[in-house]
Amino acid sequence: MLNFTVGPVMCSEEVRAVGGEQIPYFRTPEFSEIMFENEELMLKYAKAPKGSKVAFMTNSSTGSMEAVVMNCFTAADKVLIIDGGSFGHRFVELCRIYEIPHSILHLNYGQKLTKERLYEYDGAGCTGLLVNIDETSTGVLYDSQMIGEFCKKNQLFYVCDCVSSFLADPFDMEYCGADIMITGSQKVLACPPGVSMIVLAPRAVERVLTARVKSMYFNLADVLKNMERGQTPFTPAVGILRQINMRLKEIEAAGGADAEIKRVAAQAQDFREKIKELPFEPASEAPANGVTSLHPVNADAYKIFTELKDHYGIWVCPNGGDLKNTIFRVGHIGYLTHADNTTLVNAFRDLQKKGIL
Ligand SMILES: *Cc1c(COP(=O)(O)O)cnc(C)c1O
Repeated sequence: MLNFTVGPVMCSEEVRAVGGEQIPYFRTPEFSEIMFENEELMLKYAKAPKGSKVAFMTNSSTGSMEAVVMNCFTAADKVLIIDGGSFGHRFVELCRIYEIPHSILHLNYGQKLTKERLYEYDGAGCTGLLVNIDETSTGVLYDSQMIGEFCKKNQLFYVCDCVSSFLADPFDMEYCGADIMITGSQKVLACPPGVSMIVLAPRAVERVLTARVKSMYFNLADVLKNMERGQTPFTPAVGILRQINMRLKEIEAAGGADAEIKRVAAQAQDFREKIKELPFEPASEAPANGVTSLHPVNADAYKIFTELKDHYGIWVCPNGGDLKNTIFRVGHIGYLTHADNTTLVNAFRDLQKKGIL
């Protein structure tokens, strides 16, 4: 199997080997040590300011998006949501569920966020901003720095969903002034799904410690209190946290976050070069490094996905909803090489010969 989706992605041999081991009991100093090491490397890679903390959540990243909305905002807030696709829309739904007043900055599929559009909300009385830095459904990358400056000017609590952009696109939490950064185990971290991390800058730590949350499992104050001793309130996905430890150390040995970002960028660039002659149109105005979204000019996008899966053992990432037949995506994250890109491009050429592409 060759997996070009945007998660779960291909894992390294070493990470897979850890997944095959017995799961140890976790209320031990040994496991706490792994958690502290995970926290230290996560903070380093997020370029988080001093005093930041990490909440390791046993849930997919949508659970962390939900926890952040519940713990950081109330009915007294008014948040601005950048909604350029299905992940932006998820924040809208969450704010509806938790009755957080919100404004929606709507972008069409593939459209980038310009300063002009953002500053339509300058001085609009908002208190927070929610954005998916890579809107993975369309592969559009937003400018975390430009948004950060806007947040600073308007004193907004700034939440970055970096689930698919963490370690794929440059991100400096301290420099852009983000209060929260969310990511997950199955994207660039290339581990099995099941764990999501919330990095909290000092202002966010303060906010969640005093929040009143109607939830036991999603109480971030409880999570942070337990993390002081390298533990979680409830049984975490112990095996995946050990795989994350292996993966973070792998990244460290290969040169750290910046080296991994460069590697993903090169993987994307190589693919984009190789498909230049093929009948695809790019579907994103501001392509993120982690994923290329493509519009096949004369073909059905979903059929390309099924053909590749059923006849070549290759998985690309289909789109859902309205975009199902017009757009599909190719991921550049996880354990993939330039040679794998060639294999995929050869399969595209084969589909062209068969008249499917
Ligand atoms: C993958 C992803 C998520 C989370 O999806 P889960 O299925 O809950 O893991 C959230 N936001 C973005 C931008 C993503 O790419």
